Amino acid sequence: MAKIAFIGLGNMGSGMCANLCKAGHEVRAFDLNADSVKAAAGRGAAPAVSLKDAVTGADVVITMLPAGKHVLSVYFGDGGVAAHAAKGTLFIDCSTIAVDDARAAAGKAEADGFRMVDAPVSGGTAGAEAGTLTFMAGGSDEAFVKAKPLLEAMGKNIFHAGGSGNGQAAKIANNMLLGISMIGTCEAFFLAEKLGLDAQTFFDISSVSSGQCWSMTNYCPAPGPVPTAPSNRDYKPGFAVAMMHKDLALAIGAARAAGADLQLGPLAEKVYDNMMARGHGDVDFSGVFKDLHGGL
Ligand code: NAD
Repeated sequence: MAKIAFIGLGNMGSGMCANLCKAGHEVRAFDLNADSVKAAAGRGAAPAVSLKDAVTGADVVITMLPAGKHVLSVYFGDGGVAAHAAKGTLFIDCSTIAVDDARAAAGKAEADGFRMVDAPVSGGTAGAEAGTLTFMAGGSDEAFVKAKPLLEAMGKNIFHAGGSGNGQAAKIANNMLLGISMIGTCEAFFLAEKLGLDAQTFFDISSVSSGQCWSMTNYCPAPGPVPTAPSNRDYKPGFAVAMMHKDLALAIGAARAAGADLQLGPLAEKVYDNMMARGHGDVDFSGVFKDLHGGL
């Protein structure tokens, strides 16, 4: 069993940390928010009072933080993880951050004598609680092999996508596709309705025809056909507009840096940007359907 420092006990990290404890690992948990540390302690982790306290004696550090700037400062800032971890410690960052930031962090970690894997997730807070997340990992074969059993304690599908940053690349390309397909699904249901079809009839046809996609069959943005979808609870997230906007911004930034000239990704980003600007960042991202009706 591993000695793990878990840092970042928010919506995602709290469930992930609890699942590592459940699997029998020795976990020391830290977050800037003392209540989150207390809650983690109630679910099997040892509470840490600082990064130093969490990291000292650990052989693996796992982070689940909001964005790249938090990841870089937690690992490499003054008094950060790298200042206190033993050489050879494995760093696993599960946050969604820019591909370039992930590659810079891994390069710095390796230069300082550590190993690092970027392992962003898909599956949301329900997947984090249930231990059914999908992990997309980037890093050396050796680092991935060491990380894999820990990722398996928190997830169901674990992929090694290649070298450093490739986990983030897979994550943002996937989420860009999701952002685009959700808007397309919303527009298709809106058009069908305007042309006289009810949502269930269009769903029955399209879900077994060539327009079928995850946004339709698992997360239908029109209320009715998929009972578990946020469309049936007035678009309470789920996956908020602000989070989709973050992932699209990362995808567009990476595309620009790589010289990939995209058309629909930037348009999708504009749709969510516009919803954010009107104060709807906390609505589920399938709320585009309600927005098309002028209802947001
Ligand atoms: P969150 O804001 O709920 O949690 C982040 C936690 O990090 C907070 O508890 C915060 O206090 C802590 N934190 C911030 N700076 C810190 C520091 N310097 N030291 C210690 N703790 C610090 O965010 P979340 O929803 O758990 O998401 C985490 C990451 O996972 C993000 O990168 C997000 O994009 C990604 N993600 C989220 C979801 C989701 O559905 N929420 C799904 C997939 C991926």
